[in-house]
Amino acid sequence: MGMTCDHCSGEIPLAAERCPHCALPGLFPNVRAAEDPREMEALRTRYAAAIARAARRGYESTARSFEQTMRKTRAVINRPLGEVQRLARSDDEVYATYYQLRESGVRVPQGDAWDKRRAITDEAFFSGYREKIRFGALTADGKGVWHYGDVAVVLKETMIAHRASVLEENSVMFMQRHKVRVYDAHVLPQGYRAIWAEREKVCLAKLADRLHAQTGDAEHAQILLKQGAKPEEDDFVEVHIWGPLTRRCFEHITIRKTNLRPAARVVLKDLQEQLEPMGVPVEMCS
Ligand SMILES: [Zn+2]
Repeated sequence: MGMTCDHCSGEIPLAAERCPHCALPGLFPNVRAAEDPREMEALRTRYAAAIARAARRGYESTARSFEQTMRKTRAVINRPLGEVQRLARSDDEVYATYYQLRESGVRVPQGDAWDKRRAITDEAFFSGYREKIRFGALTADGKGVWHYGDVAVVLKETMIAHRASVLEENSVMFMQRHKVRVYDAHVLPQGYRAIWAEREKVCLAKLADRLHAQTGDAEHAQILLKQGAKPEEDDFVEVHIWGPLTRRCFEHITIRKTNLRPAARVVLKDLQEQLEPMGVPVEMCS
């Protein structure tokens, strides 16, 4: 599935980030995949069915207020303290992806089951551009998935909305739950991803059945993002962001107190000194 260039009318393959003929830049392949009309139609059908079920069971207004919260969600990336500290130091520090770290030899592939699953999944979802994708989660309260690091970095919507897409769950777990075989990995089930502006539809389609008439607004954040006992039990809506991220993308930072060594207090102070003058609050939570 390709597209036609607005400028030169040439054919642009899906994975291209610019027109191969006239070099018109600024295309985000993950967003284009989510914009596929069949994908959007399948999502809207699932979303409408979820709202209809809520109405039948007598909690449509709860579902609608959940939807309002989901429209205001942000993307959050959790990383270890040391890495966020490096990013906070200068505009020139860029958050590298797993594949970039591996290529540069900084990170050695473990060769275990998860590395293989991750590689196959990423190739299925981001064929030809997997090394460009950064992963995050949707958050309604600024907290992220702690298994990925003690620092939750909430990203500015204006810096990512045009290049972000969302998927109903962790993409590796998605492959397992939908039993996508390697042989069929070029055709993924549709209706589970969305462009940023329609992320609430993915949230509703996935989570409306977990609501009930008494669900209060205070519960929304934890219905959206559940910390698991093990990483594979974490439950969240995954965010895919194409391209680099720097501290200019930071909106708000929350550091988890648990596991924080005494020396980390110094790091916290350092982070606050670097980021608060840029208007990025740094907070602790338990
Ligand atoms: Zn062109």
